[in-house]
Amino acid sequence: ADLDHDALQALLDRLSKDAPRCFNEGKVADYIPALGEVDPNHFGIAVCHVDARVQYAGDALTRFSIQSIVKVHALVLAMQRLAPDDIWSRVGREPSGQAFNSMVQLEVERGVPRNPFINAGALLVTDLLVSRIVSTQYTLREHLRRLSGSDDVGFDERVARSEMDHKARNAALAYLMKAYGNLDADVETVLDTYFHGCSVAMNCVEMARSVAFLANRGVNPLDGSRVVSPVETRQLNALLLTCGLYDAAGDFAWRVGLPGKSGVGGGIIAILPGRMSICVWSPRLDGYGNSIAGRHALEGLVEGIGFSPLG
Ligand code: GLN
Repeated sequence: ADLDHDALQALLDRLSKDAPRCFNEGKVADYIPALGEVDPNHFGIAVCHVDARVQYAGDALTRFSIQSIVKVHALVLAMQRLAPDDIWSRVGREPSGQAFNSMVQLEVERGVPRNPFINAGALLVTDLLVSRIVSTQYTLREHLRRLSGSDDVGFDERVARSEMDHKARNAALAYLMKAYGNLDADVETVLDTYFHGCSVAMNCVEMARSVAFLANRGVNPLDGSRVVSPVETRQLNALLLTCGLYDAAGDFAWRVGLPGKSGVGGGIIAILPGRMSICVWSPRLDGYGNSIAGRHALEGLVEGIGFSPLG
C-alpha cells in the first residue's frame, strides 16, 4: 500500500535531516565560475503525485541550475514536433558507458551520438529543434513554464554566458558532428541554445511538477493536458533508466531502481510510474557529475516507499 500523506512527509523530512551526512564528500561543479559559487551545503527534495499534490522538504523552493535535466524537456519538445524517424535516424538509444561530455564514441560512430542524454546527443536534439522552430529559446522556456506551472521560470543569462565562454568541449562535439554531416544548423546557434537550456533555474517543486507527466502516462496532472502518448512515456522512462545518469546509469538503476536524470547543478529527477515524480537537489557531485546527497536520498525514498517498478 502507498504511504499516506503524513508518512511520506515524515520520510521526506527525515531524508532532508540526514542529508548533511553527505556534505563531507564531493564537490560543486566548477567548470564555469557561475556554478562554482553555489553554496555546496544545500539539500532539497520534492515529490509531485499524479493527482498534482506536491510535498517537499529542505531547500525545495530554492532555484538551482537545472543543467542536463533540460535534456529531457528538450527531447520531449522534439518528440512533440518531429516524426520519430527524423529524431532516431540522427541519434541512438543506447547507454554510452562514457562520461557525459565524452568524444570517443562520436568519432568511432561517425557523428551519431549514442543517446539524447549525453552532451553530444543533446546538442543533436538542439540542432533538430533550431532547424525547425523559429524561436527555440522562447519555445523551450514556454514549454518549461507550462509543464512546471510557474510562469517566471527562465534562463540565468550569467550562467549561459559563462557556458559560452567555456564552450570548447561542447563546441568540439558539435563541430565533429557537423564534420560528419549530422548537424544541420549553424553550430554557434546550436551551442547558444543548448547553453541557455542548461542555464534554466528552477526549484525542486517546479522541477518535480515539470516531469510529473512521466509518472502519469503522458498527461500533465497540473492542467490535464497531454504532453506525450502513453507509448512515448514508456519510451522516455526506458531511456531515462538506461541513459539518464551517463556512465553511472547501471549503478543508479541498481541502487534506486527508477528512471532518472541528473544535471551538474546537483539536481536529479526520478519517476515512480503511476505514482509520482521526484526532484532532489544538492550541489556536491561525485566523479560522474551526479549529486551524492541526491542519489543517497533517492535510495532512502525508494526504501521508505518500499516499492519500485523493478520490484
Ligand atoms: N552545461 C553542462 C555541459 O554542457 C551540462 C552537463 C551536465 O549537466 N551533465 O557540460
